[in-house]
This record gives sequence, structure tokens and C-alpha cells, in this order.
Amino acid sequence: MTSTANLTTATDPTLERAWEVLESVPDPEIPVVSIRELGILRDVRRAADGVLEVVITPTYSGCPAMSQIAEDVEHALEVAKLAPYRVATVLAPAWTTDWMSADAREKLRAYGIAPPTGNCGGETPQPPATPREKVIRFVPKALPAPACPRCGSAHTERLAQFGSTACKALYRCLDCREPFDYFKPY
Ligand SMILES: [Zn+2]
Repeated sequence: MTSTANLTTATDPTLERAWEVLESVPDPEIPVVSIRELGILRDVRRAADGVLEVVITPTYSGCPAMSQIAEDVEHALEVAKLAPYRVATVLAPAWTTDWMSADAREKLRAYGIAPPTGNCGGETPQPPATPREKVIRFVPKALPAPACPRCGSAHTERLAQFGSTACKALYRCLDCREPFDYFKPY
């Protein structure tokens, strides 16, 4: 029996092109990092029916940026003339700040946002959820204080549980007195 199902990314120019195009799609809220670096872009593949399928996983549940990200992905694919395609949103395993690349953390800091430290305040990583489970987790209350992204001081205080978005908390540095967003570990 002959089959073309063994095509891999390496031999499929459309998939290669799609990866290239999507790696440059920025996060709508933090444009210095790409959705790839944040770990939101999970996969680019051929679905069982042969259609180009892009898999994205939302960051925080209810993060309003998610529909924007799907639109940006679609736009990038349209511009690159990669239609037909579909964008699949996959909720499990749930996104975690552990998926953020080291580069992304550095870029966040340079942008003035303290990157997440540790994984959820020392919890061990969650095993992957079963596909039928919709995972909603809450950020633990007692997180170690993040260092100031501007002066590096660990002498910071939390002003608000939520910063400019639900994904971030608002902190202030007690040394340089600057307020800053902290990307909460999740
Ligand atoms: Zn500071």
C-alpha cells in the first residue's frame, strides 16, 4: 500500500515556510517576544486530511490576547499565501511559563517586565492533563518577590494582583521606586 503520510517537516516546504513565517509573529501584548518564544505556538503540521494545521495553546485562561493571536497567525499565513490552513487551539497540556525560552525571559527583562521565576512557586510541574480536561489553575498566593527588571534589586513589593493584564502583577521596586509588571509564573 502506498502512502504519502510519512512526509515530515524536513521534506515539506509548506511546513518549513509556515514555521518561518510564524516564528516572527509577535505576542500582541509584549511585542518584543514572539509567540514561538513564549511557547504559545506549539506545532505546525499536516492534519489527517492533509490541511496545514497550526496549533496554539492559550497562556492564562481567559487571556483576551488569545483571539488576537489566532488572528495574527491567520494574517501571517494569508500574507505568505499558505492557505488553506486551520488554526487549532489546544488547551491540554495547559500552557506554563516553563515553556518560555531563555531568550524570551531575557527580552522580557530588557522590556521592563520581570520574567517568571521558578515554576508556580516551587510546585513540581503538572503531568499532562487528559485531553477532555479543561485545566484552570490559579497562581499561588505566596510567590517569591521578583527582582526589579531595571536595577536588579530584590527589594520589591506587590502593588496589585493584576497589572496591565491578568497575566501580570504590578510591583514596585523599593530601591529605584519604579513600578513594573511581573509576568506571573503559571
Ligand atoms: Zn529597581
